[in-house]
Amino acid sequence: MPASLTCYGAVGEIGGNKLLLEDKDTKVFVDFGTCFNEGSDYFDAGIEPRHVNGAGDLFEFGLLPEIPGLYSERALQNTSLKYVEPEIDAILLSHYHWDHMGRIGFVDPSIPVYAGETTALIHEAASESTYSPLDDHILKTFRTGDRLRIGSLEVVPIHVDHSIPGAYGFVVYTSEGALAYTGDFRFHGPLGSMTEDFASEALKASPSLLVTEGTRVAPKDVRQDLSEEAVLQETVKVLSKSKKLAFSSFRGNDTDRVNTFHKAAQKTERQLVVSMKTATLLEKLQKDKHLKVPRVGKEVLVYVRRKGSGKIDDKDYYTWERPFLDHGMTATDVHDRQGEVFLHLDIWNFPEIIDIKPEKGGVYVHSSSEAFNEEGEREEDVIKNWVGHVGFSYHQIHASGHSPLDGVRRLVQTVGAEKFVPIHTEHPELFRSFKRKCVIPEKGMKIPI
Ligand SMILES: [Zn+2]
Repeated sequence: MPASLTCYGAVGEIGGNKLLLEDKDTKVFVDFGTCFNEGSDYFDAGIEPRHVNGAGDLFEFGLLPEIPGLYSERALQNTSLKYVEPEIDAILLSHYHWDHMGRIGFVDPSIPVYAGETTALIHEAASESTYSPLDDHILKTFRTGDRLRIGSLEVVPIHVDHSIPGAYGFVVYTSEGALAYTGDFRFHGPLGSMTEDFASEALKASPSLLVTEGTRVAPKDVRQDLSEEAVLQETVKVLSKSKKLAFSSFRGNDTDRVNTFHKAAQKTERQLVVSMKTATLLEKLQKDKHLKVPRVGKEVLVYVRRKGSGKIDDKDYYTWERPFLDHGMTATDVHDRQGEVFLHLDIWNFPEIIDIKPEKGGVYVHSSSEAFNEEGEREEDVIKNWVGHVGFSYHQIHASGHSPLDGVRRLVQTVGAEKFVPIHTEHPELFRSFKRKCVIPEKGMKIPI
């Protein structure tokens, strides 16, 4: 079979990357994720695909490609697609974000998943504390510069800077030419030079095809344009304004943000207190000698939610939660030291505020992307209601995981591939102005390499 690329997701939408690479007898999926608003025309307002139906309810609306030899027997048991032995050689995972790996749980477990070493640790932490879609799979780990042989393909992973550690792009050598895939990237993070490394490796390969993300390529880029360093400065400013409690919701697996907030807490004589889930991840990541994250129990403390009896009793907590009880802070502890705490509180844990009973005049730092759709706006309103209820001030401070338009264009021009394919964007047509041959993908359309 001639070498080709087929996009089954991330076409005219942000996330849901599912890219099939075929060369001779080799078939590899690059990422296999869930789109952010996947199927929201059908699955919304409390309607969800039934677990018992495996992939069936998603096939119904074309939300997963019906490809033989890809899914597990369990995923297909109630569908018209017959189970056959795997025909896909591997899944190459760029990074551990749901929009890149969320659907791997449906894939036949005997299909190996290639992932970065850091990704394997993030997966372990998720697996221990909740669930990971990679749970049933054999993980084959890589680092930057490794050369992986998968059938007729040679794959070179190269790190990129993104809002989660262990993010990669790939250069794939097929029997007919090279393909470069950016994954998700930015240049403005603390490790922006890693994205430059990717660009120069991709350039060396003189690829026939470059597949690039373009989350922020839009007629109007609503995202705040801060660097991680600016997030630190802004946060310090906000935290020093108040002698009362400070709290923030942010993605705990964004370790750049954890480090930034740890520094901000230090500079304002506060203690950063994180969720148990984030603490589990930070402990796992201590094993990664290339990463620096704060130590649990020493540099960060852990918030202990009230459970069962209300007293801290081991038996009320899951096994994975118990080790944190010793260096935990309860709602009462936070209440007693409110001016000395910077608390990480995921929005689903906001009801904890009821127990903390903070005094008025504290600050809330909203550290994720601004709302870009109605659902997001609704969520923002609810957050603001909680913040207003306790008499706190609301501050939006965030550095995006994605490059703005300029950076994407610069990368496309640097790599200089014969043609490029914009994915992971709602506005692929805007890429036509990049002065390079642009192929706008369609779902299921084969693009020759
Ligand atoms: Zn993504």
